[in-house]
Amino acid sequence: MWSGGGRGGGRSGIDEDDKLNRTQTRVVLARSIRMAGEFRRHAAWALVLVTITVLCTLAGPVLVRHGIDAGIKAKDASALNITVVAYLVVVAIAYVIGRMQYVVLNKAGEGFLRLLRVKVFAQLQRQSMAFFDREKAGVLVARMTADIESMAELVQWGLMQFLSAFLLLFLAFFLLLSLSWQLTLITLIVFPFLIAASVKFQRDSNRAYLEVREKVGANLSALQEGITGVRVIQAYAREDEQIRRFEESNRALFRSHMYSVKVSTWYFGLIEFAGIASSALIVGVGGWLVHRGTVSLGTVVAFVLLLANLFDPVQQLSQLYNTLQSAAAALHKLFGILDAVPDVNESDSPVSLPATGDVEVRDISFTYASGSQPALSNVSVTLTAGTRLALVGPTGAGKSTLAKLMARLYDPQTGQVLFGGVDLRDSSLEDLRKRIVVIPQEGFLFDGSVRDNLLIARPDATEDMLLGALNNLGLRERFESLPEGLDTQVRERGSRLSAGERQLVALSRAALVDPAVLVLDEATSNLDPGTEMLIEAALEKLMAGRSVIVVAHRLSTVQRADKIAVVSDARITEIGSHDELIAMGGHYAALVNNWNKSQPQ
Ligand code: ADP
Repeated sequence: MWSGGGRGGGRSGIDEDDKLNRTQTRVVLARSIRMAGEFRRHAAWALVLVTITVLCTLAGPVLVRHGIDAGIKAKDASALNITVVAYLVVVAIAYVIGRMQYVVLNKAGEGFLRLLRVKVFAQLQRQSMAFFDREKAGVLVARMTADIESMAELVQWGLMQFLSAFLLLFLAFFLLLSLSWQLTLITLIVFPFLIAASVKFQRDSNRAYLEVREKVGANLSALQEGITGVRVIQAYAREDEQIRRFEESNRALFRSHMYSVKVSTWYFGLIEFAGIASSALIVGVGGWLVHRGTVSLGTVVAFVLLLANLFDPVQQLSQLYNTLQSAAAALHKLFGILDAVPDVNESDSPVSLPATGDVEVRDISFTYASGSQPALSNVSVTLTAGTRLALVGPTGAGKSTLAKLMARLYDPQTGQVLFGGVDLRDSSLEDLRKRIVVIPQEGFLFDGSVRDNLLIARPDATEDMLLGALNNLGLRERFESLPEGLDTQVRERGSRLSAGERQLVALSRAALVDPAVLVLDEATSNLDPGTEMLIEAALEKLMAGRSVIVVAHRLSTVQRADKIAVVSDARITEIGSHDELIAMGGHYAALVNNWNKSQPQ
């Protein structure tokens, strides 16, 4: 979906900081040069090779001049032959060195991108839930694809062109000057116009480029919505409306592309015209100077041939400027990710957690984003080892948040969560994930076999341990009855398994870890009664002997809990056993009353 294709690569809604100011650009470039330190040898090599290619390119016209003046005009056949051979040798060297420089620079450039991709990915994997709340998955994917892609252009050919254009422009100018200052002056007449045109082009094309990217982003989100939302769209017969929206964004994309074509065509046309006009001027004025004996015929021809080496670099540099800018913008964003400090991180001297213990929540408060309403305020609760705590209450009250904090998916802003007397923030993350396991409503399945998916929870588990865990939950037969048993491929996101089977995988994963505490968000979706019963039975076996925190949606679950906490408006308002709370006649009693009315057990 996010196929970032070079210029105008796919992004969505993340272009706000596409233009960096000069200081930012400088900081970004300095940092990437530091990061590319290990490719320094490659870069030095490339510089040597580029210099040789540039010298070869410039040697061509000089040799032609020699051939004309010393060979043709002087009627010296051997001088002419030597020049022709020398020319051929120079071209051959340029060819070989040119290929070499291409490979060397690409090796350094692609190596840098590889390094960057791995660094960013590793950084993403270490981030906490809070980070993923803030950043949209699509945007992060775009960082790894489109942003890296916009640098690929630079490293694949941009850097090389940049170096060679710069050198060529510089050396060609001095070469021309040494051949004839008069003709150099004539050439310079068009330069002020050329530079003015290049500056304008650079601005216009940058605007066009940003616009194309923005429109590509909009077009992609229209496409994405149309595909992911197709069921809802068809259910309400909104296909025409969706097609119209897509057409609209598509037309906007077309228009922005056409604008960028317009910008390029006038500029390239102008450069070409300037080149031809200069050549004509040189031929005219040069001819006159030859006639007067000021310069040789060979010099005029060399001049005409060298002119291309003056005009091409100007055009290339103004084009490259934008590439460089967008690469700097992309790097800036990627560095932003690299600099994000994980909120849930491991303490420097982690304490090991006891095998079992109470989970104690001490006066915690938690807010998702600064400035928003607290999702929990001053909540305290204790879950005694081996007992079950059910969290009930209206939607948005903070139940899931409390459950997540008890498993340290987030850290509270104030207060503490302890397991066996150890603050979760002091424990090692590996220990923590072995003691406390969260079972999400929808377990994520990776492409691979059922076995691979189970082993994610514990890669070192033996086959016996795996089968033992499945046996314990009474699920071994269920999994073995799949077409290829545990080797059945689940495909991406487990699309070959039913929702119920995916849930069973999630439960088995937890069983494999054998944690002391289970945190689960009870599924609200309805499954067929057979699967439902199987899940219920497996869950019951999984919970046996463990501490359980469950965000409950069913009365049956609540009734089986030792303790029930009613969460309302970010606080625990009632807490006790089912009977105690019913006797209290408060919020819980009313809730149970409603439950009984709506879903008779
Ligand atoms: P419950 O589980 O009781 O339905 P939650 O704990 O999910 O409630 O949510 C509590 C409050 O926090 C709600 O106002 C909700 O909108 C907000 N909230 C939940 N998750 C996030 C999140 N990832 N980012 C920002 N706010 C959130």
